[in-house]
This record gives sequence, structure tokens and C-alpha cells, in this order.
Amino acid sequence: MAGFTIKGIRLAQLETTTSGSDKNPHAIKSSLMGHCPHCSEGAIFVKLLKPVQTCSVCGYDIAGSDVGDGPIVFVILAVGFIILGLALWLESRFSPPLWVYFILLLPLAAGLSLALARLLKGLLVGLHYNYNYPKQNDQTDNDKE
Ligand SMILES: [Zn+2]
Repeated sequence: MAGFTIKGIRLAQLETTTSGSDKNPHAIKSSLMGHCPHCSEGAIFVKLLKPVQTCSVCGYDIAGSDVGDGPIVFVILAVGFIILGLALWLESRFSPPLWVYFILLLPLAAGLSLALARLLKGLLVGLHYNYNYPKQNDQTDNDKE
């Protein structure tokens, strides 16, 4: 029996993957790299951040997971923390003129934001795939009207 023990109490090991046997065990790693979580080959982004409708290799419905702007909140918080910290450090240490901030911090903020947004959107696509969201064969949208 798989599991682990804490202070003599045996606990069952949590299942992190779904019960489907056709699931890709490397789904999250693949989607972090920008590849389809189902086949690990097709791209999940058309351009830099726009997700594709379906995987060009296996046809997996990537648009159905609809990651939206959810990851962007975390990008704003993380990049804001980093950039503000750098700006405060620069000011306290060197007191440079204002143009130095624009030249150093604006490109850094843009680059970090794009890279982190792509990474987190990919992560969310992988997590949606791993936890079978939305259910691929269960359409209940007709009940809304
Ligand atoms: Zn695919």
C-alpha cells in the first residue's frame, strides 16, 4: 500500500494525476515549456501569449481550459515586487538620475512580465489538463439558458 507515516499515523498517498490511463505524466513540464500537455509536441501559444484553439498535433482542446488573465495577477505582484525592490535599492545605493530608472527598469519589467506570464499561463494549461478541467466530454453549458 502506497502512503506515508506521520507520528505513527499511516496516511494514504495523494493521487496527483487523474485516473485516466492515457494522461501524459509530464503534462505540467510540457506546458511550462509551451508545449501541449496532452502530446508534449504541439505549441500551446500562437504568438507570445495567445493560446491556440486546439493542438496542431493531437487536436487537444487547449482553448477550452481558458486560462484568461488569472496568471497576470501573480505576474503583476511578482514583477512589481522585484522592480520596486530594485528601484529602492538603486535609489538608496546610487541615487541615479531618473533616466537611469527608465533605461534599466522598464525593459526589465517588460521582459520579466512577458516571460513570467507565458510560464504561468502554460502552467495553468498543464494544471487544467492534469485535473481534467474542463471535462472534455461533459458539456453542461446548455443549462445556463
Ligand atoms: Zn497535443
